[in-house]
Amino acid sequence: MKYFSTRGGDQKLSFEETVLAGLAPNGGLYIPETIPSLPADWRTKWSSYSFIDLSVAILSLYISSEEISHDELRSLVEKSYKTFRHPEVTPLKKLNDKMFVLELFHGPTFAFKDVALQLLGNLFEFFLLRRNAKKAAGEKPEKLTVVGATSGDTGSAAIYGLRNKANISIFILHPKGRVSPIQEAQMTTVTDANVHNVAVKGTFDDCQDIVKTLFADREFNSTHRLGAVNSINWARILAQTVYYFLSFFQIQSQLPVGTNIDDIVIQYVVPTGNFGDILAGYYAKKMGLPMGKLAVATNANDILARFWKNGKYEKVDSTPVEAAGPTAPVDGSSDGKQATDASGVKETLSPAMDILISSNFERLLWYLAYETVSGTTDEKHTAACKTLDGWMSKMKNDGRVEVPVSALEAAHKDFVAERISDQVTLETIRSFFDGEPSYVADPHTAVGLAAARIIAPQNSLNVRQIVLSTAHPAKFSEAVSRALEGSSHFNFERDVLPEEFHGLLQKEKRVIEVERPEVDLVKAVIEEVAGRDEAKVATAGSV
Ligand SMILES: *Cc1c(COP(=O)(O)O)cnc(C)c1O
Repeated sequence: MKYFSTRGGDQKLSFEETVLAGLAPNGGLYIPETIPSLPADWRTKWSSYSFIDLSVAILSLYISSEEISHDELRSLVEKSYKTFRHPEVTPLKKLNDKMFVLELFHGPTFAFKDVALQLLGNLFEFFLLRRNAKKAAGEKPEKLTVVGATSGDTGSAAIYGLRNKANISIFILHPKGRVSPIQEAQMTTVTDANVHNVAVKGTFDDCQDIVKTLFADREFNSTHRLGAVNSINWARILAQTVYYFLSFFQIQSQLPVGTNIDDIVIQYVVPTGNFGDILAGYYAKKMGLPMGKLAVATNANDILARFWKNGKYEKVDSTPVEAAGPTAPVDGSSDGKQATDASGVKETLSPAMDILISSNFERLLWYLAYETVSGTTDEKHTAACKTLDGWMSKMKNDGRVEVPVSALEAAHKDFVAERISDQVTLETIRSFFDGEPSYVADPHTAVGLAAARIIAPQNSLNVRQIVLSTAHPAKFSEAVSRALEGSSHFNFERDVLPEEFHGLLQKEKRVIEVERPEVDLVKAVIEEVAGRDEAKVATAGSV
């Protein structure tokens, strides 16, 4: 299997090259040449598979065994998911006869990003070790310096994915004092030598600007071989396809006696930000996993919900207010007074979904473009890249692009979309807590649950909804406590706080402070630490 850029060019990459590159040089995202179909006996053969067995089976459809042998792949996958606390890795819980939650937060940092980042870290390490083993004595080993910025909710998943990995250093910038204490502790209590938390006196935007400037600095970038682990990395999408398959079999085993899986339709409802999680579901669907339309659930940062209403992919809603009928929030709420940051992102109670544009959406747009062109497969490929490239440059220049009706129709075949306000998010947390069984959802999961409820009446009777639960409620304690503060039954420590978080705030921390949000100060930190690491390697080498 080879990979190519959504924006075209003759470049065909191996899986290894795709994973190490992240973004294509022409700005595109890598997608597989073809979407593989499932083996004929998948339903019987895979039905008793564990998460790990399924990972191996699915990943090997996308990775040639000449690149990673079957045994190597299995050991990478085993290593990646033994860090999960639940034996099923991603358990499925029944909320009522029609609705289930697929809990993706049983990894080391209690958030769904662990599913992908645990594997990505091991893949990076595997590839670097293999490359370095081929080097002659005295030749410089290949190394990777991963740099990223976080507002708190996702930095720890990257840190846990890369901690203690050979030939990799990781620097995660966060705005000092502006990250919740639990989230700050989750990052800074990781004291492995290759993990460097950088607390910058400034805002999240400052941190992000610094990271962007570092990547754009060619000399610095090539000296330190900067790498990113952002959500456009193909390996992350691939890792996430697995739980769609697992949950198909989980639901099959939970159906009442006499109900056949062939008589029901599964609808996945996915709290969405950068469109990575739900895109994995789209690949699962195209591979042949039976399912109904995938449901995109967004918060007030609703560029995707608006796209499915009018076919316009635009940063700022251009629909005139009086004509806003179909694009108005479905719950009738208004976000008129909602705080926005400098870039125009709205601050919501589900911060991991606070985005202006969805980076992985480009991959879906490619497939939509593909469906609107004609010719042989090869001609369609080339034409789709050209169309997509045109759309993305419009987006870059004008902040908006409108796709043709045929592309929007193609999008409607596989998806529905809903937007959920903060107010409804809080009400939803409350109502599921009061439900039977009582369930405490984090605010991201609650966006999914709320969307599922809105969509349910349009579904036929045989539909079962699976809402993807993307974070443990203890990670977003403020929103959960705010939703449930009026409830006399609710006790945060007893009902939500996992054992692993007890005493976390008192643990040993390691953090480098940067006094002003200046690129040169951060560069100096990276250079000093990298210098120290080099010196260590040199001493080790000379012994
Ligand atoms: C990243 C994240 C999401 C959004 O996932 P995408 O793949 O970016 O759509 C939702 N919830 C939580 C808790 C997340 O961390």
